[in-house]
Amino acid sequence: MKFYELSPEERRRQLVEAGLMTPADAALWAGTPGLDPAVAAHLIENQIGQIALPLGVVRDLPVNGRSVQVPLATEEPSVVAAANNGARIAALNGGVQAQAPAHLVVGEVVFATAAPDRVVALLAAHEAEIRAVAAAAHPSIVRRGGGLRTVTVTRLDGFVKLALGVDSQAAMGANIVNTIAEAVGHAAAAWVGEPPLVAILTNGDTEPTVATVTLAPDTLATRNVAGAEIARRIAQLSRLATVDVARAVTHNKGIMNGVGAAVLATGNDWRAVAAGAHAFAAASGRYQPLATWHLQEDGRLAGRIALPLQVGVVGGAMSALPSAQAALRLGGFDSVAALQQALAALGLVQNLAALRALAGPGIQAGHMALQANSLAIAAGATGDEIAVVAATLRGTAMSLAAAQQALAALRKDEQQ
Ligand code: NDP
Repeated sequence: MKFYELSPEERRRQLVEAGLMTPADAALWAGTPGLDPAVAAHLIENQIGQIALPLGVVRDLPVNGRSVQVPLATEEPSVVAAANNGARIAALNGGVQAQAPAHLVVGEVVFATAAPDRVVALLAAHEAEIRAVAAAAHPSIVRRGGGLRTVTVTRLDGFVKLALGVDSQAAMGANIVNTIAEAVGHAAAAWVGEPPLVAILTNGDTEPTVATVTLAPDTLATRNVAGAEIARRIAQLSRLATVDVARAVTHNKGIMNGVGAAVLATGNDWRAVAAGAHAFAAASGRYQPLATWHLQEDGRLAGRIALPLQVGVVGGAMSALPSAQAALRLGGFDSVAALQQALAALGLVQNLAALRALAGPGIQAGHMALQANSLAIAAGATGDEIAVVAATLRGTAMSLAAAQQALAALRKDEQQ
């Protein structure tokens, strides 16, 4: 049986038997989802409950010669299936190559000033002090081999910006950078003669992780469309996204379907990643696709994604979320770079699967087949009824009313 045909229990067992999941993590995910009530009550303010999402897995995403099991938390049907499909095609083609940048998170200390030249000169003259204050503000990150790396002063219209590039090691770095930025801002107020307007990290200014893949057209064939034709249409769809912002937004939304779900599953800050991704897409002044595809002279389809990823593998809420830690273990994400590389590769294959569907049968065939489950649940089906009602719906004009009718008929049959 294929992995997707197994029950969740059988899937966990298979992953444990393959040495990809620990028995303890399998037991964690087998149990009722939810945080310890005391943890939930202390993680945010005004806590009144918890929500749960299904957790899926992308099997064997090939990244830099390694097969990665990528956990995805999502409510959207077809995201996990599409990612697995894209991973399968990439595996047929030697896998995805991904390269993560040096991990630098930038803090901004900005002065609103009528005398920008004077402020620029004062800040530039105090670089040694800035470095000393930054190190004293967060000694533990320095001990871990990280800390302030770059100091840049720029003039903006009516402002002077001191940008502090911080290596936050294995952490995403928002709190670390904010601590450093505020300390430097406080110290700089004495030199500048006025306090900064703001001292906080930016979710932009992150170097992108880049992933590439090259595909033989015959690996792209669908039931009714030849691989070379699919490859040609994917390249055209990619070009369309560069000239039509409306298409580019949806193109990128599809990429974030997978990336956002993996960021969420690993306990990372999906708002930071989403804000950074869309700002990067618009960096040229015109919103652009994050992943692009072109036909090479040899007829193969080359894909490339560039995506800034502000993530970590320790810190933040991760230690309070047992499922996030299990997700990091499942993915083997033992460094920021390993996680970034997998996320970028995931975004690329997710985009491939979406564009291949658009170029071939269209997106709805696969979506609606899976949507049948959601409709069955919305109609009130529970337990084994969900699969039976969904099967009745497939191949018909799907609607909530049809699902309700199918459920009523099933229950009537069972009573007889
Ligand atoms: P933390 O504040 O949790 O700092 C990292 C923690 O990890 C520290 O306690 C550190 O220990 C520990 N740690 C253990 N091993 C390492 C290692 N190898 N490298 C680095 N740290 C290590 O997290 P972040 O600074 O990463 O901040 C992330 C959080 O900030 C997220 O929850 C995010 O949502 C939130 N946030 C985001 C903002 C934004 O994006 N705009 C704004 C504000 C907050 P030690 O103390 O001993 O060094």
